[in-house]
Amino acid sequence: MAAEVGDDVYGEDPTVNKLEAIAAEKTGMEASIFVSSGTQSNLLALMSHCQRGDEYIVGQGAHTYRYEGGGAAVLGSIQPQPLDFEEDGTLALEKVKGAIKPDDFHFAKTRLFCLENTQSGKILPLQYLSDAAKLARKHNLGFHLDGARVFNAAVGLKIDIGEISGFFDSVSVCLSKGLGAPIGSVLCGKKELIDTARRWRKVLGGGMRQAGILAAAGLYALENHVERLEEDHANADYLALGLSQIEEVSVASGCAQTNMVFFSVSDNHILPLTAFLENRRILIYPGSSIRLVTHLDISKEDITSVIDSIKAYFKSV
Ligand SMILES: *Cc1c(COP(=O)(O)O)cnc(C)c1O
Repeated sequence: MAAEVGDDVYGEDPTVNKLEAIAAEKTGMEASIFVSSGTQSNLLALMSHCQRGDEYIVGQGAHTYRYEGGGAAVLGSIQPQPLDFEEDGTLALEKVKGAIKPDDFHFAKTRLFCLENTQSGKILPLQYLSDAAKLARKHNLGFHLDGARVFNAAVGLKIDIGEISGFFDSVSVCLSKGLGAPIGSVLCGKKELIDTARRWRKVLGGGMRQAGILAAAGLYALENHVERLEEDHANADYLALGLSQIEEVSVASGCAQTNMVFFSVSDNHILPLTAFLENRRILIYPGSSIRLVTHLDISKEDITSVIDSIKAYFKSV
C-alpha cells in the first residue's frame, strides 16, 4: 500500500518499472510487461507473435486454447491448431512437425508453437524443451511458454528459472498463482515483442495507471515466495500419500510432481463427498477427476484435516 506510484501508461510508475526489470532479469529476457492476468498475458503473446490468419500449435487441454474464451481467435483472428498432450504434459514433436502447414495459400501460416509448464502440475523435461526449441527454430516458428506456474517447475527441478525460459522467445508468468500475489502476470521476451505487446495491452484496455500498488505485491512475491514453493510441493506429496492410503480413493499416478494432486472416487460418491466436505468448510470442485492444489495459504495441518475428512466420509457411508 505504501508503494511509490506514477502513471504506468506513460511508463512513469517506478514500482511497475522495477517489477518489469526484475521479471526480465530473472527470466533472462530483454524486457517484460506487467499485465492484469495470465489470460491477458498469453493473449498479448499470441497477438504479438502472430498476425491475422496465422496459426499457433497448442495443446488440446492447454489453458491458452481451452480456458481463455477463445481470445486468440476472437480478438487476434489467430487460428489454433490443437494437439493432444502426451501423458507427461509434452506435445509429441513428431505430431507438432506434422501439424506445421506447408507454405501454400490453402493453409493458414503456422507461426507459433506454444507449450505449458507446468502442465497440470507436470514438469516438462529440459531435454524435451531443448528439442522443441530446435524444432521451432528449424521451422521458423515463434516459441511461447505459458509459464503460469513455471516457478513451480524451476523449484521442482532445483534450477534457475532462466534455464527454462532461455529456450523460449516469450514466457508468461503468473504472480497470482503459487507465488501468492493478489493480481497480475508478467509477459517476458525480446524488447521488440514486448513493445508490440504494450500496444496490444493498450488496445485491450489493459493499460493501468497507478498500478504500482499491484506491482509491489508482485515484487514481494518474486523476492519472498519462490524458494518456499518447495513447501507446497512437499505438502502435495504428503497429500497424495495420505489419499492413496484410502481404499475408495484413487490418486492419479505420477501427480504431485509440484503442487497439484488429482484423485477420483466412484461416480456415486462425488456429490455426497463434496457436500460432506463442504460441511467441514473444505471446498472441492466435484468432477470425475478432482484437482487439489497446495499453496502458501495451505498448511500441513490443513492437509491432515482434508485427509482425515475424506477418511471420515468413507467411514460414514
Ligand atoms: C491460471 C492460468 C492461466 C491464466 O491466468 P489468469 O490470471 O487466471 O488469467 C494461464 N495458464 C495456466 C497454465 C494457468 O494455470
